[in-house]
Amino acid sequence: PTENKHDLTHVASLFDMRADLVHGHPYGSGHINDTYCAYYDQAGQRIRYIHQRLAENVFKEPVKLMENVGRVTDHAFNKLVEEGNPEAHRRTLTCIKSTEGKPYAVDKDGSVWRTYPFIERARTYDTITSTDQCVAAAKAFGEFQKLGADLGGEPLFETIPNFHNTKVRFQTLIEAIEKDEHNRAKDVAKEIEWFMARVDEGSKVVDMLEAGEIPVRVTHNDTKLNNVMLDDVTGEGICVIDLDTTMNGSAVYDFGDMVRTATSPAAEDEKDVSKVTMRMHMFDALVKGYLSSANAFLTDKERELLPFAGKLLTLECGTRFLADYLMGDVYFKIHRDGHNIDRTRTQIALVESIDQQMGEMEALVQKYSV
Ligand code: ATP
Ligand code: MG
Ligand code: MG
Repeated sequence: PTENKHDLTHVASLFDMRADLVHGHPYGSGHINDTYCAYYDQAGQRIRYIHQRLAENVFKEPVKLMENVGRVTDHAFNKLVEEGNPEAHRRTLTCIKSTEGKPYAVDKDGSVWRTYPFIERARTYDTITSTDQCVAAAKAFGEFQKLGADLGGEPLFETIPNFHNTKVRFQTLIEAIEKDEHNRAKDVAKEIEWFMARVDEGSKVVDMLEAGEIPVRVTHNDTKLNNVMLDDVTGEGICVIDLDTTMNGSAVYDFGDMVRTATSPAAEDEKDVSKVTMRMHMFDALVKGYLSSANAFLTDKERELLPFAGKLLTLECGTRFLADYLMGDVYFKIHRDGHNIDRTRTQIALVESIDQQMGEMEALVQKYSV
């Protein structure tokens, strides 16, 4: 959570607000950026905006990141307006332009800020409490991809290089095993063997993208439930937020990460792996929601990949945890010895659970494809 340490009057002066700042305060439960909610007076009316300072230790190229966000949100907004959507301003984030006409502004200390209109009468949830929320969130991520599906022009800037390049992820793991800098490989021989038996599966989607068998799309890459605003009244997923990782990639990455993060009842670092399972009713909800919007643009090949996608993204995450363990826990924060190994094992368990249920998962995708 954000400390109240920034001068919002200065921030407000950088943007073309056409309204007067009344007051602002730190807001939300984000872990990455500094988020503020600020009240403005616009001709006697109170309006809220979100000001966000980008985390400079995380994002090395904040201006390029914001150019991605500006392009994607402009495109989405224009498309919604063209379609005659009466709620266009609520269905996508939009960047308030800086006084220089940019989707971001740089403050006197060199930090990059963005300003979004506050999405009213909706909120984010940190934990999933119903399958309806799952349906709603998955539908919203499908809508997001749909809005981006015909974004023209140059490819988006690759904010995090090779983020979902599972081929490279496996390669990184193999190098970590070969180097074995902390002499830990001997303790995880079984896990290493398990991953090495799945190297080929790891390259499936990357190879298909490279061969042009499936299209490169605009993808969100952080498809957690708490990155979707759900309507306070209807519960509908109205708008996807947190676009920092929006890049080009395969549509199935976004879907697969939903399966990885939403279907198991166990925590990512649960020690009792018997608690880790891919719950079919949650998968059902994800497919139902996602395909209700994504059927409009997905190719048959992409649709066929959906059951595999959850497995792929779980494999990917597992390779990252195991490689980090072997490299001495340098990337993921650990709170106990072997924390990254516990995390590796939950990913293995989830992949195995998916494998056992693959037939039923394929049948569900079929069912919602028509
Ligand atoms: P993390 O990566 O940890 O999820 P973050 O630092 O990237 O967080 P965001 O997810 O972008 O931050 O935003 C933090 C919170 O602020 C969101 O969970 C949401 O509740 C709120 N928020 C962000 N943008 C808006 C908006 N336009 N309208 C209303 N609320 C918003
Ligand atoms: Mg977020
Ligand atoms: Mg974020």
